[in-house]
Amino acid sequence: MHALIAAEKLFRGEPFFALVPESLEHDIHPGCMVLLSAKTGNGRVSIGYILSLETLEGDELSSVELLDLLYGGEAVLSPSLLRLTAWMADYYLTRRVDTLMAALPAAVRTTVDDVVEVSDFTLKSEGQKVINTALRRSIMQVMMVEKRLTVHQLQRRIGKKQLYRTIAALERGGELRLSKKFSSTKARQKLAWCLSPSLPENIEELLKSSPKQLEAIKKMAILGKGGAFAETIAVSRETLNSLEKKGFVEKKFMDSISHFTTGFSEVAQSPKTLTALQQKALELLIGAFDKGEYRTLLLHGVTGSGKTLIYIEFLKRVLAAGKTAIVLVPEIALTPQTAGRFREHFHEEITILHSAMSNQEKYDAWHSLRLGKTKIALGARSTIFAPLENLGAIIVDEEHEGAYKQDRNPRYHGRDTAVMRAMFSHAICLLGSATPSFESYNNAVTGKYTLINLPERVDGATMPKLTLVWMKGSPKASSSISELLCRQIEIRLEKDEQVILLQNRRGFAGSIFCLACGHIPLCRFCNIPLVYHATQKQLRCHYCGYTKRFTESCLKCSSTNLFYKSSGTERIEEELKTLFPDEKILRMDVDTTTAKGSHGRILTDFHDRKARILLGTQMVAKGLDFPAVTLVGVLMADIGLNIPDFRASERTFSLLTQVAGRAGRSLLPGEVYFQVYNMENDVFPALLQGKESYEKFFLQESAIRKALHYPPASRLIKFECSSEDEKQAEAAALSCKKTLELQLPAEKGAILGPAPACIAKIRGRYRYQVVVKLFDGKLSPFFVKQMGDNITTSFRSAGLTFTVDVDPQNLM
Ligand code: ADP
Ligand code: ZN
Ligand code: ZN
Repeated sequence: MHALIAAEKLFRGEPFFALVPESLEHDIHPGCMVLLSAKTGNGRVSIGYILSLETLEGDELSSVELLDLLYGGEAVLSPSLLRLTAWMADYYLTRRVDTLMAALPAAVRTTVDDVVEVSDFTLKSEGQKVINTALRRSIMQVMMVEKRLTVHQLQRRIGKKQLYRTIAALERGGELRLSKKFSSTKARQKLAWCLSPSLPENIEELLKSSPKQLEAIKKMAILGKGGAFAETIAVSRETLNSLEKKGFVEKKFMDSISHFTTGFSEVAQSPKTLTALQQKALELLIGAFDKGEYRTLLLHGVTGSGKTLIYIEFLKRVLAAGKTAIVLVPEIALTPQTAGRFREHFHEEITILHSAMSNQEKYDAWHSLRLGKTKIALGARSTIFAPLENLGAIIVDEEHEGAYKQDRNPRYHGRDTAVMRAMFSHAICLLGSATPSFESYNNAVTGKYTLINLPERVDGATMPKLTLVWMKGSPKASSSISELLCRQIEIRLEKDEQVILLQNRRGFAGSIFCLACGHIPLCRFCNIPLVYHATQKQLRCHYCGYTKRFTESCLKCSSTNLFYKSSGTERIEEELKTLFPDEKILRMDVDTTTAKGSHGRILTDFHDRKARILLGTQMVAKGLDFPAVTLVGVLMADIGLNIPDFRASERTFSLLTQVAGRAGRSLLPGEVYFQVYNMENDVFPALLQGKESYEKFFLQESAIRKALHYPPASRLIKFECSSEDEKQAEAAALSCKKTLELQLPAEKGAILGPAPACIAKIRGRYRYQVVVKLFDGKLSPFFVKQMGDNITTSFRSAGLTFTVDVDPQNLM
């Protein structure tokens, strides 16, 4: 019997066959992680993954020896994950081994930390067991003396590398325990608090007269058994101390990094009954789920329509049916409220995966999901590979978010991978957003996905009223704030309501924005902003290479008052301080959120109404739900349009809709002011359409995308050649283009470039790119691989790197 194996360190990651020793034939199966040794090498072992088992003609000699099965011979990749990674390699034109490694946490893919221990049971009943083979006997002899060894140490003692299966057999017999103990630098321990196990049932009664203490208890209940730091739940030490005296909470010490905390939490919310619209959406979902077939549904619900509660109610049903589920969120740190709400409902049944976890915790979380101990995995992109069996549903919240695309190899999109995993598992995939990506919405319109609309907010909250402020024609209170917006802020402060101000994305350096008329010069072929190259005094399109002379004056109104870089939030903060000297202002941007937990602290302060104005970048646009916010102001609402990317309008529309959605989420009505410099664009007229603004914008933009063959009317593949030698990078890109031209007839696709990437030089390397618009069909993985190999070989002396990005989210 032969095994087809992929291993990172062998054969440059290409799958190869190796003979399966007879002793392993029984236990080996696809998805197993194995220990390998190259016969010719220096005897060093490496790790590989079994793709399939085959009976080959003849006894082909393999140069790699299969030593042992890891993880006790259990598959680390289920058949459906194997299939998913095969799809990824094929679709994203990347190596199979890279997709396998992406699907497993690094903590699982290592043997360095494997530890064998004698089980407590064996220690007590010493010598009673009959150990029936020589190898087992010698292992037990060593172990009875040592009690605990790393597998490496044991291998050296016994003088044999193939120990894993025997250890696993001894583990099944109850003699030994095999586990991973990461020798991580010991995490700092900190004082924390947890609920007493004997918390009385009538705690609400008992603490009626101490609302602060009751609130603390409720917050701790959300976090589950684990316990919490005082600052995580924003409760004072005094409150916790008095609770401890009463015996309601207990002190404990916890690793300061280990516990899931974003530094922000809120009081548990009372259970809610679904509104009629939510109920209808839920019934649709359950109807689809009960069929037991794959289906993707797109939940298009306006901001504040209560999507989270629908997810939660739906998942209750999935769990009740004995199935498991995955929930993807764009970035855990930025959506603390969402994660908290799931925790509140599913307590110990949910595993929240986040990047601050230690290796040990990552391994333990993976292992417990693999064993079926928890039923729901919630986390960012890579959570799509959670080792859950019997998957019933995958939810992708804020499915339009760019963060779902991985920007390093393998360059997969978490949302599309979710759809495929659901398909392979006959599960439901639920995508949710207030502003779906055009790709997903197009799939819904064409019937590939089922569309569910939630056009209204819950609980009688109305959509906010939107107003455009044209900066050119309006009096200003300060250089970036109009009188109109300033007056509106004053009104909210008088009423003691809250205000969120967004300083839109920093403008892209190199793109031009006329501060007099708002004009942005565009490529006449690609309809994207041109980039200014000061040295050549040229405007240049970085999709197609088109150039145009530029004299540093507006091509439309001749003004020389041009804007090259955006003013940051810091300057706006200064302006606000002058306008509102007595007001505390919270600023949230990359500079104020570098420290751990600072993001959550700012939100907590705002939530607790320690400040009434929150000023920030995109971070303030997403997922926040604060009832007292009645005014949102966006300072340069159209600056995002000058980013040289065909998705600039879509992203601007989406960002502005999201941030507008922070206003008026309760009974207090909300208002939004967009300060704009250019009245001539397609985004704002659509945005102001009210109810069906998204649909209208989609139709309008789709026409442009169709005419210019941009997604969803085509599929893009970006090839990038980078080198320290600019000429060579360009030459390589040209050769890539020529090869593609031979393969791709004009009716099947268009090839753009080579052109310098928008950020033409990163870390001393010049980047040139070729972009293919595929009208239909796909490129063969074999062809692309050959092309890549040829190019890297021909330009080896230039140290060329060749990368392929399928469905790029970023053409910069
Ligand atoms: P979305 O994600 O669609 O923007 P959320 O799920 O954040 O909306 O819900 C908006 C607000 O409405 C939240 O404060 C939530 O607790 C509340 N909410 C949701 N469903 C209901 C309901 N059925 N009754 C009362 N309040 C609800
Ligand atoms: Zn102008
Ligand atoms: Zn162009």
